[in-house]
Amino acid sequence: MQIEENVILKEFTTFKCGGPARYFARPSSVEELIECIQFCKKENIDRVILGACSNVLISDKGFDGMVIRFDENFANMSISIDTDRGVGVIDALCGAKLSTLGMQAMKQGLTGAEFACGIPGSIGGAIFMNAGAFGGEIKDIVTSVDYIDSNLVLQTLDQQACRFAYRHSAFMDELKDAIILGARFELKIGDQDQIKTCVNELRQKRVLSQPVDVPSAGSTFKRPCGNFAAALIQECELKGFKLDESGAQVSPKHTGFIVNNHGSASASDVKKLIKYVSNKVYKDTGVRLEPEVRYIGDFD
Ligand SMILES: Cc1cc2nc3c(=O)[nH]c(=O)nc-3n(C[C@H](O)[C@H](O)[C@H](O)COP(=O)(O)OP(=O)(O)OC[C@H]3O[C@@H](n4cnc5c(N)ncnc54)[C@H](O)[C@@H]3O)c2cc1C
Repeated sequence: MQIEENVILKEFTTFKCGGPARYFARPSSVEELIECIQFCKKENIDRVILGACSNVLISDKGFDGMVIRFDENFANMSISIDTDRGVGVIDALCGAKLSTLGMQAMKQGLTGAEFACGIPGSIGGAIFMNAGAFGGEIKDIVTSVDYIDSNLVLQTLDQQACRFAYRHSAFMDELKDAIILGARFELKIGDQDQIKTCVNELRQKRVLSQPVDVPSAGSTFKRPCGNFAAALIQECELKGFKLDESGAQVSPKHTGFIVNNHGSASASDVKKLIKYVSNKVYKDTGVRLEPEVRYIGDFD
C-alpha cells in the first residue's frame, strides 16, 4: 500500500485552504486500512479519516500525522427492493457520495432521502456528522453502521446505539477512534413523481439561498437552541462582513456561511473570522455559536 508524504490537502477541501498531510494514504480494502493504522501505531503518529472534506477546516500547518481517504473501491452502493414490506434497503460504503444515495433513491422511487441530494459529503462524513437539511437527517434513514474499532475489529452498530442528535453521533465521542466503513439505509417505497418534484424544489431552494459556487464548508455554525445562527449573525449586521482582503467573508447571500472567495484566504484567515463572528454574536446577543465545521490539525 502506497503511503505518500507531504501531500497538499487544500485541493481536496471545499474550503480550498489548509496545509499538507505528513503522510497520506488511500486504502482500497479493509486490509490496506489496517496496514495504515499499524503504520501509525509503529510511527506513533495520529491519524484522521477524511471523506469529501466538505465540513473541515485544515490548519495551514497541515496535519502532522496520517490522513486516510478511502479510494473509489469504497464508493459502492447496492439497492434491494422489498415490495412485501414496502421498503428499499440501500447498503452504501463510506466513500460513496450522500448525494448519490439521494439520487439513486429517487430513481428507484424510494422516499426519505430527498434532503440528501444537495449535501456534498460522503456516507462516512454524513454518519459522523448526522448530516441533514430541510427537516431530514441521516438518523431518520439509517438502520445500522459498520465500523472498525480501535482493536481493529469489525463491528456493527444499530441506529439507536449511534446516539444521533443534531449534528452529533457517538463517533464524535465514545467511538472517536472508530472508522466508519459503511451503513445500511431503509427507505419507504413512494411516488416517484412526488419524490422528483421534492428533490428539484429543495435543489432550487439551495441554489437560490446558499453560495454553492463559492468555497466554504456549508453552515459554519451549528443551530443554537431555539434560534438560527444565520439570523443572529444578520442581526449583528455582519452580512457580507470581512476583516481584511484575504478572501474570508461572511457570505452576502447566506449569513450562516463563511466563504473563502477565490480560495485566496488561508485557514487562519478563515478561523480568525469565525472567532470574530462568534465573539460579536455572543457580545451582542448573549448566544454562543458553536462551530459545525471540524478543525483538523494544529491552530494554536
Ligand atoms: C456547499 C455546502 C453545503 C452543505 N450543506 C449541508 C447541509 O445541508 N447539511 C449538512 O448537514 N451539511 C452540509 N454541508 C457540510 C458537509 O457536506 C456535511 O457535514 C457532510 O456530512 C460532511 O461529509 P464529508 O464526507 O465531507 O466529511 P469530511 O468533511 O471529510 O469530515 C467531517 C468529519 O467526519 C469525519 N469522518 C469522515 N469520514 C469518516 C469515516 N469514514 N469514519 C470516521 N470519521 C469520518 C472526519 O474525520 C471529520 O471529523 C455542506 C457543505 C458545503 C460545502
